[in-house]
Amino acid sequence: MPDLFDKFQPLIDQYEGLMASGLRDPFHLQMDEILSPTRAVVNGREIILVGTYNYMGMTFDPDVIEAGQKALAEFGAGTTGSRVLNGTFQGHAECEAALRDFYDMEHAMVFSTGYQANLGLMSAIAGRGDYIVLDADSHASIYDGCAMGNADIVRFKHNDVADLEKRLKRIPDGAGVLVVLEGVYSMVGDIAPLKEMVAVAKAAGAMIAVDEAHAMGFFGEHGRGVFEQAGVEDDVDFVVGTFSKSVGTVGGFIVSNHPKFEVLRFVARPYVYTASLPPAVVACSAASIRKLKYAHNKRAHLWEASRHLHKSLREAGFTLGTETAESAIIAVKMPDQETSAKMWTALIEEGVYVNMVPPQATPGLHLLRCSLCADHTSAQVEEIIARFKRAAATAGLPLKA
Ligand code: PMP
Repeated sequence: MPDLFDKFQPLIDQYEGLMASGLRDPFHLQMDEILSPTRAVVNGREIILVGTYNYMGMTFDPDVIEAGQKALAEFGAGTTGSRVLNGTFQGHAECEAALRDFYDMEHAMVFSTGYQANLGLMSAIAGRGDYIVLDADSHASIYDGCAMGNADIVRFKHNDVADLEKRLKRIPDGAGVLVVLEGVYSMVGDIAPLKEMVAVAKAAGAMIAVDEAHAMGFFGEHGRGVFEQAGVEDDVDFVVGTFSKSVGTVGGFIVSNHPKFEVLRFVARPYVYTASLPPAVVACSAASIRKLKYAHNKRAHLWEASRHLHKSLREAGFTLGTETAESAIIAVKMPDQETSAKMWTALIEEGVYVNMVPPQATPGLHLLRCSLCADHTSAQVEEIIARFKRAAATAGLPLKA
């Protein structure tokens, strides 16, 4: 009988080959101390974090920490149950109230992760005979949610409005349709042309879900996301989000104005059949969400830092994923796996952590992904730029003249 692990042999060989070349292992880095949202200690050395989703620097916010400590002391370490049984505490209700207020929507449903929120929505809302129409570069949680459900799946070319329209026209009359979009696409850091896409989807009579995981906190006047910035708030049926990025904790959610939304609490299996978030986590999340609404200065600073880093890396000759800084994610393209790993190692030696992302997780690209935090100081951003230049020389990465 075959060893069931044999199918992974090419991956094992690739990984072992990389490690045998003496480079550092980008997938098992251990942060020994976290000094702040932008600084950590690895192997006894301080590094600048430029590859977290801590966009708004909320992980060490004093009000957030205090709310968590209080809830831990008063409500204990965990809920030991599902949201629909014993796992809804006062804190979960407060967290949902904070989300309703933040998004100015009627309904909010908190899941244990954003991954599960997408699994829950995609698998429950579209059933046999319905269609889910999604961007080809959608996040794995959207694809996995589709795989869990029974709807027919139609993909359109990434951010291509005409292709979305064409595919919507081919759907049989009378079928239910959910169009799934993302505000910011997390690998390359580009944003969706939501105004045009939402118009096309509405014209076809589809319902629309937008995953704003990487946009919450700093897009739009209230920080709601790209859908707010694009002025399509009234046309979007569901917004999916996560606490694991700007909110600075862990958890996921869906918000909606649909009058029948609450039935999802009974039919979304990733909501029903798993334990709810610990009291400290929902308390931290609610405190963070309440503050994000008023974080105008942080939003402005994050944009300034993102634009400056993008411009400087581009001027230094790096090849970037987008022409301009469209979000706080700045993706640096690498020519191949070996150079990518060399450059990642050189950056760590310089004291900069970024995400190394292989083509399996991107639209076929080798990327070193930078993501900025509102707490990065101007001096840190200058350091990041200088260290990128030195690392490129060490790694032998050719830069454009
Ligand atoms: N949607 C998108 C677009 C994401 O990038 C992610 C996480 N990277 C998720 C959903 C899942 O979020 P979580 O970490 O809360 O599971």
